[in-house]
Amino acid sequence: MSVARVLWASGPVLKARPEGPFQMREAVAIGRRSLLGEVVAVSGAEITAQVYEDPTGLKPGEEVRGSGAPLGIRLGPGLLGNIFDGLLRPLSGARAARFDFAPGAKKGDALSGGAVFGRAGAQDCLVPPHLGGEVIEIAAPGPYAEDATLCRLRAQDGAVHEVSMGHFWPVRAPRPVAERLPSDEPLVTGQRILDGLFPVVLGGKAAIPGGFGTGKTVLLESLAKSCNADVIVYLGCGERGNEMAGVLSEFPGLRDPRTGRPLMERTVIIANTSNMPVAAREASIYSAVTVAEYFRDQGLHVALMADSTSRWAEALREVSGRLGELPGEGGYPAYLSSRLADFYERAAKVRTLSGRTGSVTLLSSISPPSGDFSEPVTSHSKRFVRSFWALDQKRAQARFYPAVHPLQSYSEDASELVEWWDRVFGALPARGAAPPVHEWSELRRKFLTLLDEQVRLERMARIVGKDALPARQQLTLFCAEIVNEAFLRQSAFSDVDWYASPQRLAAMMRLIGRFIALAERSLAQGMPLERITSLGVLRALQRMGEEIAEGDPGGFAALARRVEDEFRAAGETVRGS
Ligand code: ADP
Ligand code: MG
Repeated sequence: MSVARVLWASGPVLKARPEGPFQMREAVAIGRRSLLGEVVAVSGAEITAQVYEDPTGLKPGEEVRGSGAPLGIRLGPGLLGNIFDGLLRPLSGARAARFDFAPGAKKGDALSGGAVFGRAGAQDCLVPPHLGGEVIEIAAPGPYAEDATLCRLRAQDGAVHEVSMGHFWPVRAPRPVAERLPSDEPLVTGQRILDGLFPVVLGGKAAIPGGFGTGKTVLLESLAKSCNADVIVYLGCGERGNEMAGVLSEFPGLRDPRTGRPLMERTVIIANTSNMPVAAREASIYSAVTVAEYFRDQGLHVALMADSTSRWAEALREVSGRLGELPGEGGYPAYLSSRLADFYERAAKVRTLSGRTGSVTLLSSISPPSGDFSEPVTSHSKRFVRSFWALDQKRAQARFYPAVHPLQSYSEDASELVEWWDRVFGALPARGAAPPVHEWSELRRKFLTLLDEQVRLERMARIVGKDALPARQQLTLFCAEIVNEAFLRQSAFSDVDWYASPQRLAAMMRLIGRFIALAERSLAQGMPLERITSLGVLRALQRMGEEIAEGDPGGFAALARRVEDEFRAAGETVRGS
């Protein structure tokens, strides 16, 4: 392998004089401590490398040794349950030493790239995507190390490849798939405002911008606990160590609500806090998405939570500055946008090389300085995501959680999910009046319209006084408040309400929709507004999230009857007077 001599070093960047050929993106080992680095520029007389470890003490003249391979990580079953740095070196515990291997192919079988040749523990063993050939040897069942050769393949050109349960993959290259698939099912988050109003599909991408303290980390952590992905990759990227400490201390103790087993068994945590080398933070986002693709390729649904892409972009900016590149908007390099595009492009629902369905859903927080969404990272991310969950300082200050702003947020995935929700609503216990065909989209539209009108009417009410508004508009304000309080508000720390299944969400949505329809009709038929706003059932509606637990459809049925009864009784007294 080639060698170069360090000429100059500045923070995470160095220049060296090559004594042999180097390639762009080649991984290098630097100096006596063999610091990990990556070549980011080559010219005849000079190479430039990023250093992924603390370069303190590095001196001119020290050796830079090429590896002949691009910067990559070792993928394998030992990733699950562990905590790694941005380049997938273990931070806690060691990767399990051995896994029970069960062969899934036999001598003579022809295997192509991405094919499954056995099981290791609870994971599939995959032929690396670019290899393939005839099985000439396969290991007997038993415990093996992650890097032990389990299978020998003879390729068409006669070359023999040794395959183990894990394999190396360059982080910046998307892993190949057979086909990208359209997605018509949601990543169920358990948060009503997201699933109900701003959904993201399996294989979709959502950005969560929000100023300091608006709840980005709490939201991503609750999604890690509650969403319906099979595997969670949690990337703590550049946040202060103490914020990451919450994740690191809490996750190992969490139970998986689906299985009752430790959540860590299906979680990989990648931590790159602000006190760790800045260049490794830049790489961590690619490591994380590569890990996510690796589990996707086993036919699993993977959710990647990245907290936060702003800190990643800051690392990009710092390294770019050290490289002497021309700063663009906000000091970020001009390629910020294309790097974000490359990252979000890796979200997908796919048919894997072995013919199964898997997905990677990307959920990433953004921490815009002073909460200004027009800054570059937010505005560029917005071009590439389809779901945008804007966290609002005012809502957070009022302790209204999740502080997702219903007017600044949106989802372009909602139209893909109409039929999925039709099935959920269709399975609810029947009710008297025939529900609309697409009940979810109708209710969703109704709720969004109310919330939109609320803002306009509140502005007017501030000028003329609320009592000067016509009763119809006052009712709109009242109903919007019900949507906010009874539906959107949901505490992550409530034992009952931290999670809302699609069934419970649908029952609540239908109930609120029915209340609003009856209220509007009653007002139109002459019922005084005060009569509606003083109905006893309102308190129960406001509290149903806390009081009616999962798996209690009877609770909602009883409340629905009460809504009908109280409107009927109120109607009779109004007509009787
Ligand atoms: P950020 O990551 O945006 O800086 P955090 O996620 O750390 O903000 O949230 C700050 C605080 O707000 C939390 O410590 C918690 O007290 C409160 N909080 C945030 N989200 C919720 C929620 N969904 N339910 C209840 N409290 C929340
Ligand atoms: Mg945070």
